[in-house]
Order: sequence, then C-alpha cells, then structure tokens
Amino acid sequence: MPTPAANEPRRARPQTRARRRPVFSLLEDISTIVTQSQDLRGMLERIVEVVAERMDTEVCSLYLYEPRDRRLTLWATTGLDRSSIGRVSMSVSEGLVGYVIERMQPVMAIDAMAHPRYKYFPETGEERYHSFLAVPVVERQQPAGVLVVQTSRRRRFSLAEVRLLRTIAAHVSSIIGQARLLETLESKEEERRALQRRMSAALRDLEAYEKREGKPKPVPAGHARLTGIAASPGFAIGRAHLLEAPLTSGGLPQRRTRSAREEIQRYRAALRKSIEEIVHFRNRVRATLPEMDASILDSHRLMLEDETLSARVEALIREGLSAEASLERVVKEYVERFRSMGDAYLRERGLDIQDIGQRVLRNLLGVRERGRNFSATVILVANELALSDLVLIEQAELKGIVLAGGGVTSHASILARSLEIPTVIGVDPSEIREGDRLIVDGNAGIVYVNPPLDIVREYERLEREYRAFNRELSALRDLPAVTRDGKRIKLEANIVLFSDLNYARQHGAEGIGLYRTEFPFLSHRDFLGEEEQVELYSRIVAGMEGKPVTIRTLDLGADKYPAYLRVPREENPFLGWRSIRISLEMADVFKTQLRAILRASAVGPVRMLFPMISSVEEVLRVKELVQEAREELDQAGHPYDRGLPIGVMVEVPSAVDLAHHLIREVDFFSIGTNDLIQYLLAVDRNNRKVAPLYEPLHPAVLRAIAHTTRVAREAGKEISICGEMAADPVCTLALIGVGLEALSMGPFFIPVIKRLIRSVDFASAERLARRLLELPTVKEVKSCLFEGMRELGVIDVTELYH
Ligand code: PEP
Ligand code: MG
Repeated sequence: MPTPAANEPRRARPQTRARRRPVFSLLEDISTIVTQSQDLRGMLERIVEVVAERMDTEVCSLYLYEPRDRRLTLWATTGLDRSSIGRVSMSVSEGLVGYVIERMQPVMAIDAMAHPRYKYFPETGEERYHSFLAVPVVERQQPAGVLVVQTSRRRRFSLAEVRLLRTIAAHVSSIIGQARLLETLESKEEERRALQRRMSAALRDLEAYEKREGKPKPVPAGHARLTGIAASPGFAIGRAHLLEAPLTSGGLPQRRTRSAREEIQRYRAALRKSIEEIVHFRNRVRATLPEMDASILDSHRLMLEDETLSARVEALIREGLSAEASLERVVKEYVERFRSMGDAYLRERGLDIQDIGQRVLRNLLGVRERGRNFSATVILVANELALSDLVLIEQAELKGIVLAGGGVTSHASILARSLEIPTVIGVDPSEIREGDRLIVDGNAGIVYVNPPLDIVREYERLEREYRAFNRELSALRDLPAVTRDGKRIKLEANIVLFSDLNYARQHGAEGIGLYRTEFPFLSHRDFLGEEEQVELYSRIVAGMEGKPVTIRTLDLGADKYPAYLRVPREENPFLGWRSIRISLEMADVFKTQLRAILRASAVGPVRMLFPMISSVEEVLRVKELVQEAREELDQAGHPYDRGLPIGVMVEVPSAVDLAHHLIREVDFFSIGTNDLIQYLLAVDRNNRKVAPLYEPLHPAVLRAIAHTTRVAREAGKEISICGEMAADPVCTLALIGVGLEALSMGPFFIPVIKRLIRSVDFASAERLARRLLELPTVKEVKSCLFEGMRELGVIDVTELYH
C-alpha cells in the first residue's frame, strides 16, 4: 500500500478563482497547453492538473488505449500515485475504465468500489477516492483513451459536469494527435540539423578559412560566452535588441480624466485595434508561410475576446482608474495568479497574458508595435517568439536572432533558417542587456556578449570573408553551371516551404528539382483539401516564373506521420507503410493531390514525381490513378498540362535493378540518395550509432547511381539526383563524372557546387569516375577521389573527412 505522502498530488493545486471561469476558458487553457508543449507526456500531465483544478476533483487521470492489444495504460494522473504511470494497464474487459471503452459511453459511480465492474489496482492508491466519472476519448470515431475524475467525497456528478468532461475529452483527442505530430517533426528536424552542421563545416573548410588559433581565449569578467543550439547557420555581429522590454507602470496615467463612458470606449477601441492587428498578422502569416497552421493567433484573439478580462478592466475604470492603469492592474492580477501556480508551464502562461496586455496597452498609448524600430544592425534577443513576431522577423532586416526557448522545429527556427538569419536558441538571455554588443555564431551555436576585441576582430574577419565569399558566389548567379570544356549541368533547388522560393531564385536555381509536399500536411490537423493544395502549388509554380517545378507526391510515413493518420505501431517503419504505399492505399487522398498538382500545371511547367517506387506494378497503378485524375478534371472542366512529365524516385534497390523496365513507363528519374544509401547499405539514416556506416561514397552506392544514370540516358530520358549527396562538394565530380546532368539541392548550396563545376573539365571528371567505379572499398574510392581532385586543381578537401 503506498504511503499517504506518495499519494499526494505532485503539487498542491492552488485554490484559485480561475475555477469559476467559464468552460471556454478551460478549453482555451488546454489549447494553450497544446500549442506550447513539446512532448506528449508533459502535455498530458499539465492537462490532467488543469482539469482536476477546474472541475474541483482530487484526481484526474488519462488512460491511453492501444488498439493492437486492446489495452488501456495510465499515461498521466494528478491525485493517484504517480509511480503507477505506465505500470497500471488493463484490458477493456477489466475495471471501470475498461468498461468505458466497452460501452463507449460515460460511466459514473457514487461509490466506485461498490460497482460490480470495479477492479482495484493497489499501486494507484485510489482506495481513498469514491466518486468516479469517466468518459471515452474518441479520435476519428475510434477509441483513443479514457479520461477519469475522482473525488474522496461520495457525490453525484451533475449533467453539466459530464458534459464538460466529454468536451474536454474531445479536445484531448486532438491533443494526442497534435503531440504526435510535434514529435514527428522533432525527429525529422534532428536529421536536417545534422546535415546542416556537416555542410556548414564543409563550407568553412572549402573556403580555407583560417583555423582559429589554439583554444578559445578565456572570456574576461563582464563578458560572457553563452552556448546554445545552432538553429540557423552563419555569423552575425551587432547590438542586442531585447524584444521583451515591457511598457512599465512608471509613466502610465493612473486616474482617469474623462468620463467612465469615454474611457471605456477608449479601452474598447484599443481592444478592437489589437484584435484587428492579430487578425492582420494571421493573414500575413498565411501569405508568407501559407503551409503553417496559424491557429495560435486565433487563440490569442480568443483571449482578447474573453469577456471576464474586459469586465474586470471596465469595472476598475468605473471606479475611477484610467484605462491604462485598469488594464495594467488586471493583467498583473492574472499574471500573479498564474505565477503563484506550482506548475512551471502554467506560470509561463502568464507571459501570454502579459504579451496580449502589452499589445492593448500600446494601442491605448498609441505606441508603435514592439520591435518595429529594428535597424539592420540589430540582433533580436527574446525568450520566445510568438507567431505574430515572425511577421516582424520577416519584415525587418535582422542580423541575427538569439532565443531562450523554442526548438529547432519551432516556427521561429524554421523561418530564420528559411530567411538565412544566423540564429542560436536555448540561450539564457538574462546576461544580455539592451544595446550589448553580440556575436551570434549560428554554425557553432555560440553567443558572445560584449566580447573582447580579439574575438570581435576574429569574427569580423570571418563575417567579412563569409560575405565576400557569398558576394563572389552571387556573382555566379546568372552564369551557367558549365565545366571548362563546355559540359552543361542543370542545378535545381529542393524546397519545403513557399518562402524557400526566395532563396531558390536568389541562388540562381534553374528550377525546383524536388518540392517535398509533406510539410503542410504535417502542420495541419487533417489532409489538405484540393483547393488548398491547388492554391499552394500554384503559388509556387507562379513564383518560379516559367522554370519547371517538380512536385513530389506525399512521402508520409517512416519518420513523417501526420497525427491524424492512424498508423499501427511498426517494428521497422522505414520498411513499412510509408510513402507511395500509403498513397496507393488511400486512393481518394492521393487522387486529390494528383488533381491539385495537375491543376497547378495550368499556371506553369510542372513535373510530377512519385517517391519510394519499388516495382513496375506500383508505377502502373500510379499511372492509372493519374489517368483517372485527368478524366475527373476533364469532366469538371479544369485546365491542366496534358503533356505533364511523370517521373519516379529511384531510392529503393529494387528500382535500381528494374531501372530498364521502369524507365519505359516514365518520363524521368530522380535519384533519392538519402533513402537509397540506407536501403542499399542497410544503415538507418537517422541512427547515430551506425552513422559512420552511412557512406555516400560506398562503391555500391556509386555503382547504383552510375547504372541508373546509364539506363535513363540510353533510353533518352532525363535523370537528376535530389538526395543530400547532390549538395556535397566532395561528391560532385563523381556525380557529373558518371553522367548526371542535373543536380537538385538546398538553394544555399547551389553557388558552391556551381563554382566547383565551373572550375573543372568534364573529360577529367569522367575519367576519374571510371576509375572510381572499379574500386572495391570506401577507402580506395576516397583516396582516388581526393587524389583526382588535387590533380584537377579542385580545392583541397581531404580535411572534410577527418
Ligand atoms: C531521398 O531519399 O534522397 C530524398 C530526396 O527524399 P527524402 O529525403 O524526402 O526521403
Ligand atoms: Mg526519400
């Protein structure tokens, strides 16, 4: 039997007035928890705490249901012994909790122990609690779990309480999905970061940046060297601008000088303006980041529209305070109430209210939007960036960004990367003051605060060289990627976001070789409809102004599951239900995407690319569905390009082997080396333990690329490569040497690869590739390649593999 202490809720729940807040506020708080949390378990723990507090129960628990074995497991609780989390598990035929799933109805008991279905789990210490109310958590009409509240007092729950718990459960079901989405993005991002780090290092070496001499010099007192996480590469030197500098009560008018009616009108006008701003920001986000789900801004708007907040402010105005002082006092009350809460997360929610309060206050005072006075030398320092702040980032010419919070998958990090603003996250900003001189090293994840002169000089030099390097590269923008002996290579861009187009154009991409369409599907709550997709794809096609855009159909699964796609747990997800296999099974969803891609071809040149093809049968089925999609569009009278080229990714070994059959069915091939390497060498591309075995220069990989290229060229069809290998300068000679005439990569890498191509003879690259293809080991391939590169006068790259 657990000790009473062990049965104590993890934290004492403060008795707040918040309990009397309307249902709406509770749901809103839960929504806020959803948008702010990083991991599922932490999020669910906070939710059960909030629910118990607001429903005035001593216990709230959440059991998640696993359909495979039809069992329920305790995932989060406040009130029961927390050590039983993950340990208490029951089949649906056991206990009251199982009974809820069996019936798919709420179950209530005034004294649970007297119920015939009651089963005692001693590890929970639940014997102290009598009244029991539980409702099913249902996701897409399937059971997903059970939400339970319990009290020690024997009582009957009212109908309103049952309804409330059901509403919360409906919310929780979408939360579970949302959290899984976040986890998915996190793991994908880790991979992106690793690649980015590798390429940043390669760039530095390629440019023969002088090595920093010796160890970093000790930082004198008064200076600081803060380490964080590199979120967007590059260097920046500038002055700190703290985003959170709040408007303080010092200068605010305290007593009102107008009538209460006039003052209330003034307050309401500021409130309306604030709401309008938020709606405007939401629209801006839609314009610049159309693939994002901007619902966070909706929740901010809802907070501003909360009647309890306004009622309290207006009451104070009636008592004689100015609108500013009333608002400030109410916001303070809210913030303090949140601050007094035991839960760190809830404490932080106070910041949201503060943020919203600041917006209204600024509008009352007629002060400019925070951060609007950015200058080009500013490094933005903030705890977190709200979605609305992203619009500011997008508009301002920031030199760098330093954030305390936010993951590399956060909106801010994605946007900063997309805008190529050097960014470091996970840095404690308390040591940074407004106007401090900062250095942001977005490659290493380091921020220097008021650094000594020698460090400043070193970084100034690095920044200068980096800029000169980029200037030199941008001079190549409109020049072709052509070898010295006249062989033309097409360089295209891989993109994920609409905003990546800026960089594709800026770096001289000759087209989009790979548009990965998954991201909007991962960041929304359901599959996107045809019209939404048409709009998104058409914008991208129009943005490329006549240059071809290769749109790849959904490559979901493995490490990219949207939360709403119910997928059974798989032992080997990379060998499981992923990519084209999902699309072919969900023919409706697939055809919606096919129609949307076809319709976008009315705007400009589009190519359609199918991922993970492993057999000829799959291609035949895909083509049938494309034909059906065409007929449907014909019937509906939608125009599209009737000659739209269709291609497949060659990224599974069987496709390499069947290349000569596959090529007859399609117009082009695109080699996806990221997957091809992992499947060919049986090395998980995301597993650090085996990372050294993941080798692009493995002889089997080179031979597979050479074979596929030869087959396509002999058939007179186009072939390109769009895996990360295309962006690796070490591999360029080998790739063009085996006959690849089109490479697609992150826009950032295009100029480097172009410069390299323009510095060599194709005939020499071809000779070198022939030698490489004869070699049996990675070591021999590398030494032959490096030797050849040295002979050809290409920059010394041997250090890259240290
Ligand atoms: C690949 O596998 O090489 C590829 C480009 O696709 P992704 O990285 O999206 O799997
Ligand atoms: Mg792939």
